Amino acid sequence: MRVRLRIRPSIAVVRILVVEDEPAIADFLRRGLQAEGYSVDCALDGIEGERRALSGEVDLVILDVMLPERDGMVVLDKIRSRKPGLPVIMLTARGEVEDKVSALDSGANDYVTKPFSFDELAARVRAHLRSPEQGRATELSVAGIKLDFLTRRVERDGMPITLSAREFELLAYFMRHPGQVLSKQQILSAVWGYDFDPGTNVVEVYVGYLRRKLAANGGPAPIETLRSVGYRLVDRG
Ligand code: CA
Repeated sequence: MRVRLRIRPSIAVVRILVVEDEPAIADFLRRGLQAEGYSVDCALDGIEGERRALSGEVDLVILDVMLPERDGMVVLDKIRSRKPGLPVIMLTARGEVEDKVSALDSGANDYVTKPFSFDELAARVRAHLRSPEQGRATELSVAGIKLDFLTRRVERDGMPITLSAREFELLAYFMRHPGQVLSKQQILSAVWGYDFDPGTNVVEVYVGYLRRKLAANGGPAPIETLRSVGYRLVDRG
């Protein structure tokens, strides 16, 4: 109780629904979120999760994609049609990401790829619970590019750019570190969650996709390659 009062002194209890069939992950989330002062309810399958999301008092949903009884994507659709303002953060396993996350872009507010760190998830939960005035802090603006984490919209010089979920994460990582040289290993770790170099050229390929999309509406993309060192987002002003 003291912890809750100290962290969220003036805010009523925030209720989070966790829909996750793996008991260890559900338990990890419950304990972590409770320690942050949230009230946590868990559902272990899609039907139960959907019922609680739609009928209960819920401020945010953390929703696994692969669920017994009813797929998380179906549950997401139902939530979107009945409670469009309810923030939903999806949990996806690596490997599901490529197919599923582009679909998530249209419906979910955010997603986290397993395995994830609790701190990362908690930061996203805080971001999606913010009031609209504070919501501005969830935007980044560098080199004429504007990126909004909540709507997942990206613009360059006012023109919208459609990115896949992975391209979005990659751009966000560059925009959080403008002017800084980022090594392939740093990018692999931050964007793909790899602690090792799998020996692929995936970073090179995705930087290529990103450059092409950023350049489609104007000048060359402001991402430089520093041969055998890494990449850098340059803000030429
Ligand atoms: Ca699952």
